Amino acid sequence: MTYDKVDVPEGGEQITVTDDGEPEVPDNPIIPIIYGDGVGKDIGPVTQDVLQAAAKATGREINWMRVYAGESARKKYDENLPDETVKAIKEHRVAIKGPLTTPVGAGFRSLNVGLRKLLDLYANVRPTYHLNGVPSPVKEPEQMDMVTFRENTEDVYAGIEWKAGTDDVEEVREFVEDEMGATDIIHDGPVGIGIKPITEFGTKRLVRRAIDYALEHDRDSVTLVHKGNIMKFTEGQFRDWGYEVAEEEYGDEVITEDTLWEESDGEADDDVVVVNDRIADNMLQQILTRTDEYDVVATMNLNGDYMSDACGAQIGGLGIAPGANFGDGRLLAEPVHGSAPKYAGQDKVNPTAMILSGRIMLEYLGWNDAADLVRDAVEETISSGKVTYDLERQLDDAEKLAASEYAKEVVNNIEKLS
Ligand code: NAD
Repeated sequence: MTYDKVDVPEGGEQITVTDDGEPEVPDNPIIPIIYGDGVGKDIGPVTQDVLQAAAKATGREINWMRVYAGESARKKYDENLPDETVKAIKEHRVAIKGPLTTPVGAGFRSLNVGLRKLLDLYANVRPTYHLNGVPSPVKEPEQMDMVTFRENTEDVYAGIEWKAGTDDVEEVREFVEDEMGATDIIHDGPVGIGIKPITEFGTKRLVRRAIDYALEHDRDSVTLVHKGNIMKFTEGQFRDWGYEVAEEEYGDEVITEDTLWEESDGEADDDVVVVNDRIADNMLQQILTRTDEYDVVATMNLNGDYMSDACGAQIGGLGIAPGANFGDGRLLAEPVHGSAPKYAGQDKVNPTAMILSGRIMLEYLGWNDAADLVRDAVEETISSGKVTYDLERQLDDAEKLAASEYAKEVVNNIEKLS
């Protein structure tokens, strides 16, 4: 397609997808990038440099195509999320973005949620692993090596809610009380109401993706995390549909924890993935106390949001924690953190989370050598004590670098290691 306000790179080819949804990637792909709001302008361009260095060191080249959302789009298009941006990501299949600001309580709805829905990016994948040299509040951060698959399109996050004081919310209250008979639950006076849809379709495609990942990456287990003891027909149903996928679709490649105990002493063969479940509040303490028992997690939108931030804190905090949103034949990588407005434009915050989100993107392209190089170069930089302010203040004898200086060190290390 032609673009009105986006500079399409002169070189480069488009990524395509096979009928099976597998990406077919040229050595010179065009990849859209949204720098994002707030600190996005500080970390976006330097992430580009690091990923390009890794691509070039492995005989490839990324043709970056800058697209716009949030503040930069308001300036250029007078809207938050231009059609061109959505189309560019749809057409080119793989993209990366920095954080986008969402106003609290009023104003426009989340652009992140909008992008995930418009592109049907149904799995938000957040790997949490520890890099040597990264300070952590826990004693053995290296025990954390977990990948969270967070459902991205449903739950109370999906945006079905009504504001207190409106006719709409009173209509919903009446329906709930008079038609559905749920009396004595909503207190008198103003109320805001939200709805929590959890579908079989949404649950099963997410859990499938988590199990596929566990099988492909030689992981031992997939844990379904839910609060189904209380929210039986939403979170409890998520658990039941999750087990259905495990039991009905994978033959003897997958076994549930219950079956494992019934049939043997609880020890699974090495090449079998065990599917179990944990209640969310218990899980939040287990990831602190029994960290190494968890491997791949599949959970709903809100639980996944809270849990992956908590996991991120164990491996160095938001400056480190990467993520990516997957749809069928489509990926949009993005760090876990937000736009940290108070640091915007200061060349200060840690670009590692966005750089490592780029690592997930490189893996999806099948460029595992480039992805490993990024990881190793980041680890080398941090272990040599060259870090941004967030890590420096937790370390003795570290050297505090600006975001751009730190990224240059990572690029130097990519060149040294390749
Ligand atoms: P935030 O993640 O932006 O920042 C919270 C704090 O974490 C910062 O003050 C800073 O101390 C630290 N931090 C974050 N990123 C860092 C980095 N790269 N390096 C070092 N320290 C870092 O969370 P918030 O303040 O709650 O949200 C700010 C805005 O971002 C809100 O508008 C929110 O909606 C949005 N947000 C966007 C995304 C996204 O785009 N995916 C995700 C979360 C929040």
